[in-house]
Parts: sequence; structure tokens; C-alpha cells
Amino acid sequence: MSRKIVIPWKINERLERLAQLQQETNGALLYVPEKRPFGFNYNVRALYMTGVGTAHNVQADPRRMEIVNIFFEKHPGYGFVKWHTHCRETGEQWYEKFSQGDINSYKWQLRQDRRFVGMMISPTRKQLYGYGDLGFATIRSPTSDLLEDRISDELRHIAEQLGYVNLPPLLATERR
Ligand SMILES: [Zn+2]
Repeated sequence: MSRKIVIPWKINERLERLAQLQQETNGALLYVPEKRPFGFNYNVRALYMTGVGTAHNVQADPRRMEIVNIFFEKHPGYGFVKWHTHCRETGEQWYEKFSQGDINSYKWQLRQDRRFVGMMISPTRKQLYGYGDLGFATIRSPTSDLLEDRISDELRHIAEQLGYVNLPPLLATERR
């Protein structure tokens, strides 16, 4: 079975910019699956950031994980691709491969959910991890902003309900 991660062009640009920062970042791409003749398209609707780390490591903020997990409980039709970046400071040897820590965590997650997909974005490429034949494509979608705004509004609303009104912003350093 083949699965294609279909990313709106603007979200793809943001992912690529995140891989240019001086710290590793992570988060989720929220998608709606669409059945195709030979598999699925995972149509990405929103990018949600969950953490900013150091040049060599990134952990998700547990409160942001809680927020996005509630979103998935409310919208069981959505799935996620878990992404993180490798930045230039991570080292060029990591531009094209996952760390052992990445692989260990992906294997654990695949045992919980066979549909799990992990994605690493480096300054030079994107790489996917999961079962079967995985690929990705970017599309120009005139409604992508609107669709993402709706999801962002809902995530904000969930955060408010949880009492997370002043979560510290996720700040990473721009390369000069
Ligand atoms: Zn990694």
C-alpha cells in the first residue's frame, strides 16, 4: 500500500524554513486521509509546532501535546505526521539520516499504531519513516490558508479550555 503525504506549498515552505533555524524543532502535520486506487493520500491541513530544542535535541512541550491530542480525540478522522528538523548545527552527517534516538522512538510508535509516519526535515532534504511505500508531494491549494486557520482557531480554543492561555512562545534563532 502506498501513502503520499500531500503538503500545501505554503506549509512546505514553513517546514523548510524551520530546518534553517539554529535549533531543532518538532511538531505535527495534521492531515485528512483520502482513499486512492492504490493507497491513500494524506492531505495535510495544518502545521502545529510542539517544541524548540537545542542544535542536537528537541522535546515536545507536554502542554502542546495535550492540546493536539484533544484535537485528535475530537476529530478522529484526522491523522498526523510527526516531524522534527535537523539543523545545520546538528551536523551535515545528519542531513540524510535519522538518529538512533529517532529510530527507537519511531519503532515504539509503530508498535502503538501501524499507520504512524515520522518525518525529518534537514536543510537539504525531507525523509519519511513508516511502513510500506511512503512519498510526498506539494500542491498549490487556494483554500489551504482558510483550512489551516480553522484548525488553528480550534487549537487555540482547546488551549484556552485547558487554561493554557499564556504558553511561552516557541522561539528559535534565525540564521543571520
Ligand atoms: Zn532526528
